[in-house]
Amino acid sequence: MAKPYRSPFTKGVTLTCAFKKTGTQWAAGYHPGEDYVPADGSSSNVTLVSPAQGTIVRKNDCGAAYGNHIVIKTTDNRVILMAHMQNSSPFGVGATVKPGDPVGMMGNSGATYSAPHLHIELENSTVWNYNKNLLQPSDYIDFANVSSSTPTPSTPSTTLTVSVSASKTSGTTNDKFNFFATTNVTASKVTLQFNGNSTVYQMSSSDKKNWSLNGNTLNAGNRTITITAYDVSGRTAAKTLSVAVGNPGTQQQPSTQRTYVVVKGDTLSAIGAKFGVKWQNIASTNNIAAPNYVIFPGQKLVIPAA
Ligand SMILES: [Zn+2]
Repeated sequence: MAKPYRSPFTKGVTLTCAFKKTGTQWAAGYHPGEDYVPADGSSSNVTLVSPAQGTIVRKNDCGAAYGNHIVIKTTDNRVILMAHMQNSSPFGVGATVKPGDPVGMMGNSGATYSAPHLHIELENSTVWNYNKNLLQPSDYIDFANVSSSTPTPSTPSTTLTVSVSASKTSGTTNDKFNFFATTNVTASKVTLQFNGNSTVYQMSSSDKKNWSLNGNTLNAGNRTITITAYDVSGRTAAKTLSVAVGNPGTQQQPSTQRTYVVVKGDTLSAIGAKFGVKWQNIASTNNIAAPNYVIFPGQKLVIPAA
């Protein structure tokens, strides 16, 4: 029977440490996964890809010994842990991945006791727990399937480029900032990272060349926004832009930020009395026109200062 998952590598591999090999270096008393290196001996710039369709459910929090790692919950309800990556995966918890999506680089982070390699675990569970529900990875992962889901770009000579923009590059902490990216070739993912914030946001769009991330409020300060695009062969291109975010108090008093949602039976005069504000000021602030001054349940009103 065909194995459900593809190789996490895009080249042939050698098994360097078998599943359940015994040893005191493992808390379980044995190796809870399998270790692999490329069969061609390469140890740097080795791309790791997702073996399965799924969602990243954990990142770098399963134990320091794993170094940089991710846990993918597959759509058929197993979890795959990939450990010792060179750097933190560009994808955060909640990001969806499909077979062949580049998720990181093979590395030597954490307690590897050896040269760079991939340590991979598979559990028959929707949540990862150390040494629980273990399966032998190679029973389910087809390590010979190294390329079927990772086609090389049809125009490999084209350099991946990304253009970025924002709905605004200055504002206050009350403002929502929208970010956009455009890639020149089909990208598998576009992510966005705020300076000083390790959360990576995955841009989304129905058109694979135009990406957007809508409506983030930002902390005050000069923020650097880095948008990185990844194409199907694992290449990356990044662009940054700067956003100046000011304190809202320099533009508006907090008292002017109050809002009220109209409920059935409300009148402008009653709302005005509730906030100690002239109802005529509420009407003018919200462009509610004379002579009828119509308001409706669910309408969100900005309540001006008294
Ligand atoms: Zn291992």
